[in-house]
Amino acid sequence: MSFIKQYRCTLCDQTFAYNKHIMTCPSCCEKGILDIEYDYESMRKFVDLNYFKNQKDFSMWRYIHLIPVENKHIDQMLHIGWTPLYRVNALEKQLKVKQLYIKDEGVNPSASLKDRASAVAVLKAIECGYDSVSCSSTGNAASSLACHASRMGLKSFIFVPKRAPVGKLNQLLIYGAKVFYVDGDYKDAFNLSKDAIDAYGWYNRNAAINPHLVEGKKTVALEIAEQLNFSLTNWVAVSVGDGCTIAGVYKGFYDLFQLGLIKKIPKLLGVQSTGCSPFVDAYLNGEPIKEVEENTIADSISVGIPRNPVKAINAVKKTLGAWIAVTDEQILESMKILGSSEGIFGEPAGVAALAGVKEAIKNKIIKENETVTIIMTGNGLKDPLNAQKAVKAPALVKPRLEDLKQILEIKGEKRHA
Ligand SMILES: *Cc1c(COP(=O)(O)O)cnc(C)c1O
Ligand SMILES: [Zn+2]
Repeated sequence: MSFIKQYRCTLCDQTFAYNKHIMTCPSCCEKGILDIEYDYESMRKFVDLNYFKNQKDFSMWRYIHLIPVENKHIDQMLHIGWTPLYRVNALEKQLKVKQLYIKDEGVNPSASLKDRASAVAVLKAIECGYDSVSCSSTGNAASSLACHASRMGLKSFIFVPKRAPVGKLNQLLIYGAKVFYVDGDYKDAFNLSKDAIDAYGWYNRNAAINPHLVEGKKTVALEIAEQLNFSLTNWVAVSVGDGCTIAGVYKGFYDLFQLGLIKKIPKLLGVQSTGCSPFVDAYLNGEPIKEVEENTIADSISVGIPRNPVKAINAVKKTLGAWIAVTDEQILESMKILGSSEGIFGEPAGVAALAGVKEAIKNKIIKENETVTIIMTGNGLKDPLNAQKAVKAPALVKPRLEDLKQILEIKGEKRHA
């Protein structure tokens, strides 16, 4: 059942009849990112608490009635979503907040939240009769698109900047994508992919342009709400590059609010790296977004010109949330803290959200009596070289117990009786 009402342009506010082949506003062209609006009145009669209670599908497709795709091929997809939401007690004590949760998106098939969007892109491409899909990406959007395209029998053409981490690049090649390693930064990769998509007629998975993808990403928020029994934390923190993820998180909560299932949308904390923080700069200076250099180890959020600024800024503003930037050192420190205190290994862009929460607590943006959910957007194994910077190399030991004992004694380890 489809409850889609219409498209609305985020730039000129015009509405249009929904048409799955249209990607951007006919009046504003490429900058006119569209938002898909739903008929909540009708949806409400169908999607209520009982609907969720009786839902037997424990993947992102349990929300199929809130996602603009046909449910034809979803049985063939790899398992995406219904990722764990952990209460993290040790970290909660360290950070001195009332309650802290981590949503671990690293357990998705290609090991990041991007699977939620790529799955929708691949299904939409099939619906629209394409046999090839394409995107430009700093890594995760690409590797997830290649993953699901491969599973569903589509070709994928991928444009990545030179600096893409080795784990993500290897994923692409293993999934059998046609990879173009663009000699330039993300902006160059994005522009080349756009020209190539126009020239060759591939399906466009670029998240900011394709309005369906935010609708896939929003399922992370729907899950968090259900997993918390619709009683949400005061804050939800997520790292921001192009701005589509935070826009998706907002959209998911907005849907639930319109359906009367939650009373309040959590405050959203948008986190960037100080090495590339166009949203934070614009927020602090009260100015429009300006292009900045891309200079951070958190490759997934190293986006000098965000492609979806309107929806992202709106998400933080509407929830009375905040923007914050953290240094690469803080990101690496958070990677180590999360791994060693909770057993969760996040990639730099994922743990940036945790570093952002720490910083926001320090700055009294997040108060001691407040509750927080952090979305760990990607798995640390994707970027082993940066992880290595967060830790010390292990001690070299001769293969003799006597030598080992000496080392352990220096470390103050006791023998069990
Ligand atoms: C893509 C991504 C983000 C940010 O999403 P945007 O839509 O670009 O803002 C954050 N973390 C990870 C791991 C990502 O892959
Ligand atoms: Zn428009």
